[in-house]
Amino acid sequence: MKGPPITVKCECGAAKHVPYGEVWTCEGCGRRWNTGQIDADEYYAILREMRRFRLSAIGAAAVLAVVFTILALVVSQSLFLLLPVVLGAWYVWYMPLWRRKVRRRARSLPTWQLTPE
Ligand SMILES: [Zn+2]
Repeated sequence: MKGPPITVKCECGAAKHVPYGEVWTCEGCGRRWNTGQIDADEYYAILREMRRFRLSAIGAAAVLAVVFTILALVVSQSLFLLLPVVLGAWYVWYMPLWRRKVRRRARSLPTWQLTPE
């Protein structure tokens, strides 16, 4: 499983996105930063949480699609004509909410103190 890269900030001010478990040698000062120093349990707990966020968006979309299909079949098939409106509302209303939630969570993610090798 490939996780999101970790932002490593070097003491000299340089920064780079490094995949988990990889070692980055700073171009500026030659310090070596090993993301493997990060506790795997902690890292994978965050991965799982991010995946749950994605699943919640997919799940909400699936529920919406099912409810809408049932409504259209039961009430009137002309409701399908409203599908673009519903999809539009989805993008305008739900996705920004979702993105805000993810961003808020991302801001409160832990930072780790690595020591150069
Ligand atoms: Zn550096």
